Amino acid sequence: TFPPTIEQQFELDTAPRRCQRLVTGILVSVVIYNLFLIGDWLLVPDVFWLAVALHFGLVTPWMLVAAWLISRRPSPFIRESLAASLPLVIILQIDYGFATTASEFAAHYQYVVIPTLLYANVSLHRLFFPFARAITSVIVVGHAALVLMNAHLSTPVAIVVLAQLAACAYITLVANFQMERDLRRAYLYALRDRFRHAQADAASRRDALTGLANRHHLDEELRKLWAMPEDEVSPVSVVLVDIDHFKPLNDRYGHASGDLCLKRIGAVLMAELRGTGDHAIRFGGEEFLLLLPRMEMINAIRVAERIRRAIEAAAIPNEGAGLRGVVTASFGVAASSVKDLSAMELIAAADSALYAAKHKGRNQVWPPLAKTGEVIAAVTELPHRHRAL
Ligand code: GH3
Ligand code: MG
Ligand code: MG
Repeated sequence: TFPPTIEQQFELDTAPRRCQRLVTGILVSVVIYNLFLIGDWLLVPDVFWLAVALHFGLVTPWMLVAAWLISRRPSPFIRESLAASLPLVIILQIDYGFATTASEFAAHYQYVVIPTLLYANVSLHRLFFPFARAITSVIVVGHAALVLMNAHLSTPVAIVVLAQLAACAYITLVANFQMERDLRRAYLYALRDRFRHAQADAASRRDALTGLANRHHLDEELRKLWAMPEDEVSPVSVVLVDIDHFKPLNDRYGHASGDLCLKRIGAVLMAELRGTGDHAIRFGGEEFLLLLPRMEMINAIRVAERIRRAIEAAAIPNEGAGLRGVVTASFGVAASSVKDLSAMELIAAADSALYAAKHKGRNQVWPPLAKTGEVIAAVTELPHRHRAL
Protein backbone atom coordinates (compact mmCIF):
# COMPACT_ATOMS: atom_id res chain seq x y z
CA THR A 1 0.00 0.00 0.00
CA PHE A 2 1.03 3.60 -0.61
CA PRO A 3 0.66 6.55 1.75
CA PRO A 4 -2.66 8.33 1.03
CA THR A 5 -1.24 11.10 -1.20
CA ILE A 6 0.67 8.68 -3.41
CA GLU A 7 -2.34 6.34 -3.49
CA GLN A 8 -4.40 9.28 -4.73
CA GLN A 9 -1.86 10.05 -7.45
CA PHE A 10 -1.64 6.36 -8.37
CA GLU A 11 -5.39 6.22 -8.71
CA LEU A 12 -5.41 9.40 -10.79
CA ASP A 13 -2.72 8.11 -13.14
CA THR A 14 -3.93 4.55 -13.51
CA ALA A 15 -7.74 4.76 -13.27
CA PRO A 16 -8.47 5.33 -16.99
CA ARG A 17 -6.38 2.32 -18.04
CA ARG A 18 -7.75 0.21 -15.21
CA CYS A 19 -11.35 0.97 -16.24
CA GLN A 20 -10.56 0.25 -19.87
CA ARG A 21 -8.85 -3.05 -19.02
CA LEU A 22 -11.71 -4.14 -16.79
CA VAL A 23 -14.33 -3.35 -19.43
CA THR A 24 -12.41 -5.25 -22.13
CA GLY A 25 -11.82 -8.10 -19.69
CA ILE A 26 -15.51 -8.32 -18.87
CA LEU A 27 -16.52 -8.36 -22.54
CA VAL A 28 -14.06 -11.17 -23.27
CA SER A 29 -15.20 -13.08 -20.21
CA VAL A 30 -18.87 -12.78 -21.24
CA VAL A 31 -17.99 -14.81 -24.34
CA ILE A 32 -15.83 -17.37 -22.51
CA TYR A 33 -18.33 -17.72 -19.68
CA ASN A 34 -21.22 -18.40 -22.02
CA LEU A 35 -19.18 -20.93 -24.02
CA PHE A 36 -19.03 -22.91 -20.78
CA LEU A 37 -22.71 -23.70 -21.37
CA ILE A 38 -21.40 -26.50 -23.61
CA GLY A 39 -20.00 -28.05 -20.42
CA ASP A 40 -23.39 -27.74 -18.75
CA TRP A 41 -25.04 -29.42 -21.68
CA LEU A 42 -22.51 -32.31 -21.65
CA LEU A 43 -22.10 -32.81 -17.90
CA VAL A 44 -25.32 -31.71 -16.20
CA PRO A 45 -28.06 -31.95 -18.86
CA ASP A 46 -30.77 -32.12 -16.16
CA VAL A 47 -30.08 -28.50 -15.11
CA PHE A 48 -29.01 -27.22 -18.54
CA TRP A 49 -32.04 -25.00 -19.08
CA LEU A 50 -31.76 -23.64 -15.58
CA ALA A 51 -28.14 -22.75 -16.39
CA VAL A 52 -29.25 -21.07 -19.65
CA ALA A 53 -31.81 -19.02 -17.70
CA LEU A 54 -29.23 -17.95 -15.13
CA HIS A 55 -26.60 -17.22 -17.81
CA PHE A 56 -28.82 -14.97 -19.90
CA GLY A 57 -31.33 -13.77 -17.33
CA LEU A 58 -28.93 -12.83 -14.55
CA VAL A 59 -25.18 -13.23 -14.94
CA THR A 60 -24.62 -11.90 -18.48
CA PRO A 61 -26.88 -8.84 -18.00
CA TRP A 62 -25.13 -8.10 -14.70
CA MET A 63 -21.71 -8.40 -16.36
CA LEU A 64 -22.79 -5.96 -19.08
CA VAL A 65 -24.29 -3.52 -16.55
CA ALA A 66 -21.09 -3.70 -14.47
CA ALA A 67 -18.98 -3.05 -17.59
CA TRP A 68 -21.13 -0.04 -18.42
CA LEU A 69 -20.91 1.32 -14.86
CA ILE A 70 -17.12 0.80 -14.77
CA SER A 71 -16.75 2.57 -18.12
CA ARG A 72 -18.29 5.64 -16.44
CA ARG A 73 -15.28 5.87 -14.11
CA PRO A 74 -16.86 5.44 -10.68
CA SER A 75 -14.87 5.84 -7.45
CA PRO A 76 -12.13 3.21 -6.99
CA PHE A 77 -14.10 1.40 -4.29
CA ILE A 78 -17.25 1.14 -6.43
CA ARG A 79 -15.20 0.13 -9.45
CA GLU A 80 -13.36 -2.65 -7.63
CA SER A 81 -16.54 -3.80 -5.88
CA LEU A 82 -18.34 -4.05 -9.22
CA ALA A 83 -15.42 -6.00 -10.65
CA ALA A 84 -15.34 -8.27 -7.59
CA SER A 85 -19.07 -8.97 -7.84
CA LEU A 86 -18.67 -10.75 -11.20
CA PRO A 87 -16.67 -13.85 -10.20
CA LEU A 88 -18.99 -14.09 -7.20
CA VAL A 89 -22.14 -14.07 -9.38
CA ILE A 90 -20.54 -16.58 -11.76
CA ILE A 91 -19.71 -18.93 -8.88
CA LEU A 92 -23.24 -18.58 -7.50
CA GLN A 93 -24.61 -19.74 -10.86
CA ILE A 94 -22.13 -22.65 -11.06
CA ASP A 95 -22.73 -23.71 -7.47
CA TYR A 96 -26.49 -23.51 -7.86
CA GLY A 97 -26.24 -25.95 -10.80
CA PHE A 98 -23.77 -28.10 -8.87
CA ALA A 99 -26.04 -28.26 -5.81
CA THR A 100 -29.20 -29.07 -7.75
CA THR A 101 -27.99 -31.54 -10.40
CA ALA A 102 -28.39 -35.26 -10.01
CA SER A 103 -25.92 -35.97 -12.83
CA GLU A 104 -23.26 -38.59 -12.27
CA PHE A 105 -20.73 -36.11 -13.80
CA ALA A 106 -21.39 -33.42 -11.23
CA ALA A 107 -17.89 -33.85 -9.76
CA HIS A 108 -16.37 -32.75 -13.09
CA TYR A 109 -18.77 -29.90 -13.56
CA GLN A 110 -17.50 -28.03 -10.52
CA TYR A 111 -13.93 -27.74 -11.90
CA VAL A 112 -15.06 -24.54 -13.63
CA VAL A 113 -14.52 -22.93 -10.23
CA ILE A 114 -10.80 -23.02 -11.03
CA PRO A 115 -10.87 -20.92 -14.24
CA THR A 116 -13.15 -18.54 -12.38
CA LEU A 117 -10.47 -18.05 -9.71
CA LEU A 118 -7.86 -17.58 -12.45
CA TYR A 119 -10.13 -15.02 -14.05
CA ALA A 120 -10.65 -13.12 -10.78
CA ASN A 121 -7.06 -13.17 -9.50
CA VAL A 122 -4.68 -13.52 -12.43
CA SER A 123 -5.95 -12.46 -15.79
CA LEU A 124 -8.69 -10.36 -17.41
CA HIS A 125 -9.99 -9.15 -14.06
CA ARG A 126 -6.99 -9.28 -11.78
CA LEU A 127 -8.77 -7.72 -8.81
CA PHE A 128 -6.82 -5.52 -6.43
CA PHE A 129 -5.33 -7.74 -3.78
CA PRO A 130 -7.68 -6.98 -0.86
CA PHE A 131 -10.68 -7.64 -3.11
CA ALA A 132 -9.05 -10.74 -4.58
CA ARG A 133 -8.41 -12.09 -1.07
CA ALA A 134 -11.97 -11.39 0.09
CA ILE A 135 -13.65 -12.85 -3.00
CA THR A 136 -11.37 -15.90 -3.05
CA SER A 137 -12.15 -16.60 0.61
CA VAL A 138 -15.89 -16.40 0.01
CA ILE A 139 -15.67 -18.66 -3.05
CA VAL A 140 -13.44 -21.26 -1.36
CA VAL A 141 -15.47 -21.43 1.86
CA GLY A 142 -18.83 -21.50 0.03
CA HIS A 143 -17.75 -24.11 -2.49
CA ALA A 144 -15.98 -26.27 0.10
CA ALA A 145 -19.19 -26.31 2.16
CA LEU A 146 -21.15 -27.49 -0.91
CA VAL A 147 -18.58 -30.19 -1.67
CA LEU A 148 -18.74 -31.47 1.90
CA MET A 149 -22.54 -31.50 1.87
CA ASN A 150 -22.86 -33.12 -1.57
CA ALA A 151 -23.94 -36.70 -1.11
CA HIS A 152 -23.02 -37.65 -4.72
CA LEU A 153 -19.30 -37.13 -4.18
CA SER A 154 -17.13 -39.93 -2.87
CA THR A 155 -14.65 -39.05 -0.14
CA PRO A 156 -11.53 -39.37 -2.36
CA VAL A 157 -13.12 -37.12 -5.00
CA ALA A 158 -14.16 -34.59 -2.36
CA ILE A 159 -10.58 -34.58 -0.98
CA VAL A 160 -9.10 -34.04 -4.45
CA VAL A 161 -11.60 -31.25 -5.19
CA LEU A 162 -10.90 -29.47 -1.90
CA ALA A 163 -7.13 -29.84 -2.33
CA GLN A 164 -7.31 -28.43 -5.87
CA LEU A 165 -9.51 -25.61 -4.72
CA ALA A 166 -7.19 -24.66 -1.87
CA ALA A 167 -4.05 -24.95 -4.03
CA CYS A 168 -5.59 -22.89 -6.82
CA ALA A 169 -6.78 -20.24 -4.38
CA TYR A 170 -3.35 -20.01 -2.77
CA ILE A 171 -1.35 -19.97 -6.03
CA THR A 172 -3.57 -17.41 -7.75
CA LEU A 173 -3.58 -15.16 -4.68
CA VAL A 174 0.23 -15.25 -4.47
CA ALA A 175 0.39 -14.43 -8.20
CA ASN A 176 -2.12 -11.63 -7.68
CA PHE A 177 -0.12 -10.22 -4.77
CA GLN A 178 3.17 -10.36 -6.67
CA MET A 179 1.74 -8.75 -9.79
CA GLU A 180 0.18 -5.94 -7.83
CA ARG A 181 3.39 -5.40 -5.87
CA ASP A 182 5.41 -5.26 -9.12
CA LEU A 183 2.88 -2.88 -10.66
CA ARG A 184 3.02 -0.56 -7.67
CA ARG A 185 6.81 -0.72 -7.51
CA ALA A 186 7.09 0.12 -11.20
CA TYR A 187 4.69 2.99 -10.62
CA LEU A 188 6.82 4.30 -7.74
CA TYR A 189 9.96 4.18 -9.89
CA ALA A 190 8.18 5.97 -12.72
CA LEU A 191 6.88 8.58 -10.27
CA ARG A 192 10.38 9.08 -8.86
CA ASP A 193 11.79 9.52 -12.36
CA ARG A 194 9.04 12.01 -13.20
CA PHE A 195 9.75 13.93 -10.00
CA ARG A 196 13.52 13.97 -10.63
CA HIS A 197 12.97 15.07 -14.19
CA ALA A 198 10.71 17.91 -13.06
CA GLN A 199 13.26 18.90 -10.42
CA ALA A 200 16.13 18.86 -12.92
CA ASP A 201 14.05 20.79 -15.40
CA ALA A 202 13.21 23.46 -12.82
CA ALA A 203 16.85 23.62 -11.70
CA SER A 204 18.03 24.08 -15.28
CA ARG A 205 15.90 27.21 -15.52
CA ARG A 206 17.07 28.76 -12.26
CA ASP A 207 20.18 30.68 -11.40
CA ALA A 208 21.65 28.82 -8.44
CA LEU A 209 22.92 31.95 -6.65
CA THR A 210 19.92 34.28 -6.76
CA GLY A 211 17.11 31.79 -7.38
CA LEU A 212 15.95 33.94 -10.30
CA ALA A 213 15.25 32.50 -13.72
CA ASN A 214 18.30 32.14 -15.95
CA ARG A 215 18.95 32.82 -19.63
CA HIS A 216 17.80 29.37 -20.64
CA HIS A 217 14.42 30.22 -19.18
CA LEU A 218 14.53 33.68 -20.77
CA ASP A 219 15.12 32.14 -24.21
CA GLU A 220 12.07 29.94 -23.76
CA GLU A 221 9.89 32.79 -22.55
CA LEU A 222 10.98 34.98 -25.47
CA ARG A 223 10.24 32.20 -27.93
CA LYS A 224 6.78 31.78 -26.39
CA LEU A 225 6.01 35.51 -26.39
CA TRP A 226 7.11 36.06 -29.93
CA ALA A 227 5.00 33.11 -31.08
CA MET A 228 1.84 34.52 -29.48
CA PRO A 229 -0.72 36.74 -31.22
CA GLU A 230 0.54 40.32 -31.16
CA ASP A 231 -2.43 41.86 -29.35
CA GLU A 232 -2.17 39.34 -26.50
CA VAL A 233 1.40 40.26 -25.48
CA SER A 234 2.29 43.62 -26.98
CA PRO A 235 3.80 45.89 -26.04
CA VAL A 236 6.61 43.92 -24.43
CA SER A 237 8.91 45.96 -22.21
CA VAL A 238 12.45 44.94 -21.36
CA VAL A 239 14.43 46.50 -18.51
CA LEU A 240 18.14 45.77 -18.23
CA VAL A 241 19.59 46.33 -14.76
CA ASP A 242 23.31 46.59 -14.11
CA ILE A 243 24.76 47.10 -10.64
CA ASP A 244 26.95 50.19 -10.44
CA HIS A 245 30.56 49.82 -9.39
CA PHE A 246 30.19 46.19 -8.57
CA LYS A 247 33.81 45.38 -9.21
CA PRO A 248 35.04 47.71 -6.45
CA LEU A 249 32.49 46.10 -4.10
CA ASN A 250 33.91 42.68 -4.88
CA ASP A 251 37.44 43.97 -4.47
CA ARG A 252 36.80 45.75 -1.20
CA TYR A 253 34.42 43.37 0.62
CA GLY A 254 35.29 40.07 -1.04
CA HIS A 255 33.54 37.80 -3.49
CA ALA A 256 31.20 36.34 -0.84
CA SER A 257 29.84 39.81 -0.06
CA GLY A 258 29.44 40.37 -3.81
CA ASP A 259 27.39 37.16 -3.98
CA LEU A 260 25.26 38.25 -1.04
CA CYS A 261 24.65 41.60 -2.74
CA LEU A 262 23.51 39.81 -5.92
CA LYS A 263 21.10 37.73 -3.85
CA ARG A 264 19.63 40.79 -2.17
CA ILE A 265 19.20 42.62 -5.46
CA GLY A 266 17.53 39.50 -6.87
CA ALA A 267 15.10 39.51 -3.94
CA VAL A 268 14.30 43.20 -4.48
CA LEU A 269 13.52 42.53 -8.16
CA MET A 270 11.22 39.63 -7.29
CA ALA A 271 9.39 41.66 -4.67
CA GLU A 272 8.75 44.57 -7.03
CA LEU A 273 7.27 42.63 -9.96
CA ARG A 274 3.65 41.81 -10.74
CA GLY A 275 2.78 38.22 -9.88
CA THR A 276 1.86 36.88 -13.29
CA GLY A 277 3.59 37.16 -16.60
CA ASP A 278 6.56 39.26 -15.43
CA HIS A 279 9.96 37.63 -15.28
CA ALA A 280 13.15 38.63 -13.49
CA ILE A 281 16.16 36.95 -15.04
CA ARG A 282 19.81 36.89 -14.04
CA PHE A 283 21.13 37.96 -17.37
CA GLY A 284 24.87 37.96 -16.68
CA GLY A 285 27.32 38.43 -13.81
CA GLU A 286 25.77 41.50 -12.16
CA GLU A 287 23.18 42.21 -14.80
CA PHE A 288 19.51 41.42 -14.59
CA LEU A 289 16.74 41.54 -17.15
CA LEU A 290 13.08 42.20 -16.47
CA LEU A 291 10.72 40.87 -19.10
CA LEU A 292 7.36 42.63 -18.86
CA PRO A 293 4.74 41.56 -21.40
CA ARG A 294 1.65 43.73 -21.90
CA MET A 295 3.41 46.75 -20.43
CA GLU A 296 3.76 50.19 -22.02
CA MET A 297 7.19 51.85 -22.04
CA ILE A 298 6.03 54.55 -19.65
CA ASN A 299 4.91 52.00 -17.05
CA ALA A 300 8.11 49.99 -17.46
CA ILE A 301 10.08 53.17 -16.73
CA ARG A 302 8.01 53.69 -13.60
CA VAL A 303 8.66 50.10 -12.49
CA ALA A 304 12.39 50.60 -13.13
CA GLU A 305 12.39 53.83 -11.16
CA ARG A 306 10.62 52.13 -8.25
CA ILE A 307 13.19 49.32 -8.26
CA ARG A 308 16.06 51.80 -8.52
CA ARG A 309 14.80 53.49 -5.35
CA ALA A 310 14.23 50.15 -3.60
CA ILE A 311 17.82 49.07 -4.34
CA GLU A 312 19.15 52.35 -2.99
CA ALA A 313 16.90 52.03 0.07
CA ALA A 314 18.25 48.52 0.73
CA ALA A 315 21.45 50.39 1.74
CA ILE A 316 23.91 47.64 0.85
CA PRO A 317 27.28 49.23 1.70
CA ASN A 318 29.68 50.03 -1.13
CA GLU A 319 32.15 52.57 0.20
CA GLY A 320 35.11 53.89 -1.74
CA ALA A 321 36.48 56.84 -3.64
CA GLY A 322 33.89 58.26 -6.06
CA LEU A 323 31.15 55.91 -4.80
CA ARG A 324 27.82 56.80 -3.21
CA GLY A 325 28.36 54.65 -0.12
CA VAL A 326 25.55 52.26 -0.97
CA VAL A 327 24.93 49.92 -3.86
CA THR A 328 22.98 51.49 -6.73
CA ALA A 329 22.02 50.26 -10.17
CA SER A 330 21.48 51.67 -13.65
CA PHE A 331 18.48 50.80 -15.82
CA GLY A 332 17.89 50.69 -19.56
CA VAL A 333 14.29 50.39 -20.73
CA ALA A 334 12.90 49.55 -24.15
CA ALA A 335 9.46 48.53 -25.35
CA SER A 336 8.08 47.32 -28.61
CA SER A 337 5.32 45.25 -30.11
CA VAL A 338 6.43 41.73 -31.00
CA LYS A 339 5.73 42.59 -34.61
CA ASP A 340 8.12 45.55 -34.88
CA LEU A 341 11.26 44.21 -33.25
CA SER A 342 12.73 40.78 -32.71
CA ALA A 343 13.46 39.78 -29.13
CA MET A 344 17.19 40.29 -29.69
CA GLU A 345 16.60 43.75 -31.20
CA LEU A 346 14.46 44.73 -28.22
CA ILE A 347 17.11 43.56 -25.73
CA ALA A 348 19.78 45.41 -27.78
CA ALA A 349 17.64 48.57 -27.50
CA ALA A 350 17.39 48.13 -23.71
CA ASP A 351 21.15 47.57 -23.62
CA SER A 352 21.74 50.82 -25.50
CA ALA A 353 19.50 52.58 -22.99
CA LEU A 354 21.46 51.02 -20.14
CA TYR A 355 24.67 52.24 -21.71
CA ALA A 356 23.18 55.73 -21.80
CA ALA A 357 22.18 55.47 -18.12
CA LYS A 358 25.78 54.53 -17.22
CA HIS A 359 27.08 57.28 -19.46
CA LYS A 360 24.85 59.90 -17.80
CA GLY A 361 26.23 59.13 -14.34
CA ARG A 362 24.71 55.78 -13.15
CA ASN A 363 21.98 55.24 -10.54
CA GLN A 364 19.29 56.23 -13.00
CA VAL A 365 16.74 54.96 -15.46
CA TRP A 366 17.10 55.64 -19.15
CA PRO A 367 15.12 57.00 -20.89
CA PRO A 368 13.90 59.20 -18.02
CA LEU A 369 10.37 60.52 -17.63
CA ALA A 370 9.77 64.26 -18.00
CA LYS A 371 7.81 66.01 -15.24
CA THR A 372 4.82 65.80 -17.57
CA GLY A 373 5.14 62.03 -17.49
CA GLU A 374 6.31 61.66 -21.09
CA VAL A 375 9.22 59.57 -22.22
CA ILE A 376 12.04 62.01 -22.95
CA ALA A 377 14.20 60.14 -25.45
CA ALA A 378 13.07 57.70 -28.09
CA VAL A 379 14.91 54.41 -28.31
CA THR A 380 16.18 55.23 -31.78
CA GLU A 381 17.89 58.40 -30.59
CA LEU A 382 20.04 56.55 -28.08
CA PRO A 383 23.77 56.13 -28.56
CA HIS A 384 24.37 52.63 -29.81
CA ARG A 385 26.60 50.17 -28.13
CA HIS A 386 27.60 47.03 -29.94
CA ARG A 387 28.18 43.88 -28.05
CA ALA A 388 27.36 40.25 -28.33
CA LEU A 389 24.15 39.44 -26.44
P1 GH3 B 1 29.66 49.63 -13.81
O1 GH3 B 1 29.16 50.60 -12.81
O2 GH3 B 1 30.17 50.29 -15.02
O3 GH3 B 1 28.69 48.60 -14.11
O4 GH3 B 1 30.93 48.94 -13.13
P2 GH3 B 1 31.03 47.47 -12.58
O5 GH3 B 1 32.22 47.43 -11.66
O6 GH3 B 1 29.78 47.04 -11.98
O7 GH3 B 1 31.22 46.67 -13.91
P3 GH3 B 1 32.08 45.47 -14.36
O8 GH3 B 1 31.34 44.82 -15.48
O9 GH3 B 1 33.48 45.93 -14.65
O10 GH3 B 1 32.11 44.48 -13.12
C1 GH3 B 1 31.31 43.41 -12.98
C2 GH3 B 1 31.90 42.54 -11.94
O11 GH3 B 1 30.97 41.58 -11.48
C3 GH3 B 1 33.09 41.79 -12.38
C4 GH3 B 1 32.91 40.36 -11.87
O12 GH3 B 1 34.02 39.94 -11.11
C5 GH3 B 1 31.72 40.50 -10.97
N1 GH3 B 1 30.89 39.31 -10.96
C6 GH3 B 1 30.31 38.70 -12.01
N2 GH3 B 1 29.60 37.64 -11.58
C7 GH3 B 1 29.73 37.56 -10.24
C8 GH3 B 1 29.24 36.66 -9.23
O13 GH3 B 1 28.49 35.71 -9.50
N3 GH3 B 1 29.57 36.93 -7.95
C9 GH3 B 1 30.36 37.98 -7.62
N4 GH3 B 1 30.67 38.17 -6.35
N5 GH3 B 1 30.86 38.81 -8.54
C10 GH3 B 1 30.56 38.64 -9.83
MG1 MG C 1 28.05 44.70 -16.06
MG1 MG D 1 28.08 46.95 -13.24
